[in-house]
Amino acid sequence: MTDVAIIGGGAAGAALFGALLKQDSAATVHWITGASTAGRGVAYATRDDRHLLNVRASGMGLYVDPEEDFLQHAQSDHQDACGTDFLPRRWFGDFVEAQLRSRIDAAEKRGRRFALHAAEAVRVEPRQHGYDVLLANREVLRAGKVVLAVGALSPRPLRTVAAEALASGAYELNPWNLPQHVRAPRRLIVIGTGLTAVDTLLSASTQWPHAELVAVSRHGQLPFVHPPLPAQPYSLQSRLNATLLGCEGTADMLHAIRQAANEAPDVDWRSFIDGMRPINASLWQGLTLARRRQFLRHARWIWEAARHRTAPGSAQSIQQLRDEGRLQILAARVLGVDGHGPLEMTVRNRASQVTSRLQADLVVQATGLDTAVAFTEHALLSQMMADGLAVADPLQLGVSALPDGRLIDAAGQAQAGLYAIGSLLRGNLWECTAMPEIRAAAHSLAHALSNGQQAQGTGRASPAVA
Ligand SMILES: Cc1cc2nc3c(=O)[nH]c(=O)nc-3n(C[C@H](O)[C@H](O)[C@H](O)COP(=O)(O)OP(=O)(O)OC[C@H]3O[C@@H](n4cnc5c(N)ncnc54)[C@H](O)[C@@H]3O)c2cc1C
Repeated sequence: MTDVAIIGGGAAGAALFGALLKQDSAATVHWITGASTAGRGVAYATRDDRHLLNVRASGMGLYVDPEEDFLQHAQSDHQDACGTDFLPRRWFGDFVEAQLRSRIDAAEKRGRRFALHAAEAVRVEPRQHGYDVLLANREVLRAGKVVLAVGALSPRPLRTVAAEALASGAYELNPWNLPQHVRAPRRLIVIGTGLTAVDTLLSASTQWPHAELVAVSRHGQLPFVHPPLPAQPYSLQSRLNATLLGCEGTADMLHAIRQAANEAPDVDWRSFIDGMRPINASLWQGLTLARRRQFLRHARWIWEAARHRTAPGSAQSIQQLRDEGRLQILAARVLGVDGHGPLEMTVRNRASQVTSRLQADLVVQATGLDTAVAFTEHALLSQMMADGLAVADPLQLGVSALPDGRLIDAAGQAQAGLYAIGSLLRGNLWECTAMPEIRAAAHSLAHALSNGQQAQGTGRASPAVA
């Protein structure tokens, strides 16, 4: 049994660490968490209770074990919390920390070996039987198996943003940094209209009650909204899924979903999308590279809005801001952002194709997950790419990997003992970033790491490596 090193202190790292701690083994589990609070990562570090989970409480958890219960934990402080509620993300962060504490306590009692390292991993080097992991504090850990759980990459500025605008302090690349801006903007523009943009707008509306808020994206499409109570599952979903698995591309899939909707007009359309969850990875893996590219270009925006829906409470608050005239949503392409602050944004309206200029005291980029490892300044991933240990997915959706998470090297070989979990695997699994998928992946990977078997991935390798 060889030691395991998990790199990344977010919820994916926590789920895997906890799953490994539960096993009886003589090996040591190293968890390299970086400087932030272990387990919370980007999503659950928020202190703003207007930032809600986009999964109902009953669907959230860290492990797959039946004894863990997020709802029960939430109810110990908030008795009226319900399984169908979309609770604050902070509460889930508290739950993750509590779950970790109890796993760590139990592991200590059993003499299970583990070590937490509050430092960043900066290099991974192959050795004869495993890897050396170098930390920023110069410590070197030797492990037979290494898992990258580093989440999404730090956002890169859009190409249309001028250097002077970036240097001005009025262009914010990290939406979670809003509280650090002390001067109230008269107008704040958010680039993006997805879930992160929704959170940013809700925070900004409280932080600066008099600010005019604008959100701009190419389609101006906000996420669709979850129904207040779960919709009834579609009774013929398995037939629909079988049809979808036989489709050639996304146009055929869309046609199949439309047909099902026509045949069952009483079924909430969201049930069709939710019922596809178990086959999403297989559907993605069945697409050729060209069809994946086509999907990303033409259908990604609407898929993201339909699949990653917003909590009804968040949607109501956004609607209220719009009704009060405090928030405007624009469907427009951002052609440029210039100036030293205030900033000038040039946009081309989608419907009219008219170009106009908007002034803003603060522009926040909230354009979603960045997984383009080929362009990243992430020290560890850059080194692994330079050394051929990691290769970018051909569509810049993370790294090339097998469906079980094993990384493909520059020679096209799957590497023994080198894995990824979470966002870096989007190229292979597409939907792999939400907790329901992450906790299942962590469970399967923990099993594989301890047994020396492959994790249970779904389907085939990505087209570039097949
Ligand atoms: C704002 C937001 C809201 C979300 N809401 C939900 C939700 O409601 N429900 C749901 O199911 N999913 C949600 N998600 C999906 C979310 O991505 C997952 O739930 C989960 O939090 C992802 O965890 P992660 O560990 O993969 O990534 P992250 O949370 O990004 O954590 C990765 C961590 O690794 C650290 N790290 C990076 N490089 C290194 C290194 N070299 N050495 C050491 N540490 C390193 C990073 O600093 C970071 O702390 C949300 C995501 C976001 C961004």
